[in-house]
Amino acid sequence: MQSDLYQVIARRWRPRTFDEVVGQKHVVETLKRAIEKGKIVHSYLFAGPRGVGKTSMARILAKALNCENGPTPSPCCSCDACLSIEKGTFVDVVEMDAASNRGIEEIRALRESVKYASVRGRYRVYIIDEVHMLTEAAFNALLKTLEEPPEGVVFVFATTEPKKIPQTILSRCVRFDFKPLTQEEAVHILKKICEREGVSYEEEALRIIAKAAGGSLRDAEMLLEQAILFTDGNIKRDRVYEILGLVDSLVVEDFLKALMDRDLDGVLDVFHSQVLGRGYDVGGFLSALLDEVVERLKDAARSGNTELAVKYYTFSKVFLRLAEEVRRHPFPEMLMEAEIIRLVSLPPIESVVSLLKGERAASEPVVPETVRSDERIKQVSDVVQRLVDAVAKDKPYVATVLQNAEVVCQNGLVVIRPGGLKRIGWDRLNEELPYLRDKAKELGCDLMLEGEIQENSVPLSRAELKERARKDPAVQKVLELFPEAVIVDIKRRDRR
Ligand SMILES: [Zn+2]
Repeated sequence: MQSDLYQVIARRWRPRTFDEVVGQKHVVETLKRAIEKGKIVHSYLFAGPRGVGKTSMARILAKALNCENGPTPSPCCSCDACLSIEKGTFVDVVEMDAASNRGIEEIRALRESVKYASVRGRYRVYIIDEVHMLTEAAFNALLKTLEEPPEGVVFVFATTEPKKIPQTILSRCVRFDFKPLTQEEAVHILKKICEREGVSYEEEALRIIAKAAGGSLRDAEMLLEQAILFTDGNIKRDRVYEILGLVDSLVVEDFLKALMDRDLDGVLDVFHSQVLGRGYDVGGFLSALLDEVVERLKDAARSGNTELAVKYYTFSKVFLRLAEEVRRHPFPEMLMEAEIIRLVSLPPIESVVSLLKGERAASEPVVPETVRSDERIKQVSDVVQRLVDAVAKDKPYVATVLQNAEVVCQNGLVVIRPGGLKRIGWDRLNEELPYLRDKAKELGCDLMLEGEIQENSVPLSRAELKERARKDPAVQKVLELFPEAVIVDIKRRDRR
């Protein structure tokens, strides 16, 4: 019954012209321009996640080509051709779902029909949905048609998995990649629908729906339809949380606030009365909590608030581990409670940060960065790892050398220092500098070599540096306080 309902709303609000499409601006602009200039190709590939409007766009293209006032980037939507394409009764627009018509027989029949010139319209348009589902034999048959397409025939292939389509087919298509809708775009559409349907709403309620839909317009419309049905046309945030079975963001906020304030009674009270009291399961609550903490961690990292970032980073590590543990635990509530008590009893983060910043003799040049924001870890390890991987494909030896060097990436600059390298390895990196720069550029980074091999002292390897850092009393103290912390990088401390 629900799928019928969603059909109703999805059909009623399906965009009818390019200008009514929300999002996918790059696709709309390019298609409109091509139609204006009469540059129509024989086959298009519309790739992208489900529910973002690929087949709607294909139908608009069919209308644009066949409108009695066309071909035109703005089909009139009132001539016979436009109207019957909308109704799905236009003879020269053929829609096929490859998920249920996968075989050679269907494609043979299609090839037969392609031979006959268009019956009514200027263009005969074949829209094949989920085209990656076709069998190999069917693809081969299709390829023959694509190699010598008759005049006036246009194929639009839609797919959620372009990787499964043979290269021979891909190379004959003009490809468009559809993007998931942003939350703003989804909210914009939902508002328009509510207004035209005469439904009243709280804006936050629509935001919750848009977020839950995760970039799929179809899902957003379906959830809205449910919300309209269950709220008698007055959509409020509290009800939406209930209907969708989501954890109320206010509960998450209250919980985190008490946790940040180190208010043990407060956290436990929220947990008992709001989380368990409202019937949320611990796993679902943890996942909502994680979403929020990761968002806040990103904000803190972006604004350079290290202390806050470290705090949220610690929380995220704890909640992640906990989410995994409660799944198998017979008493998830108790596990959660124990963890809450431990988190609140941790020493204030500020003292740990100052511990790390503490005075140190200049003769001890090595200081570790024990904890980092999630973002930076990702940035550092991602770029460096991707660089090493890329090099490994061309020059395995150079990649091995890189792994023994000290490679860091900061703000789009990859810096390579000798680290544990011997003279021969370092010289090789110098020789390969132009090549390495090119590889880094492919990852959007600059690259430089820094420092020299000191001939008379054997440089410490990264492993040795890490070991030395681990023995540092300040680091040991931090590791004791934060069992989740890991040493991700060792950095030479600036001499003062
Ligand atoms: Zn028309």
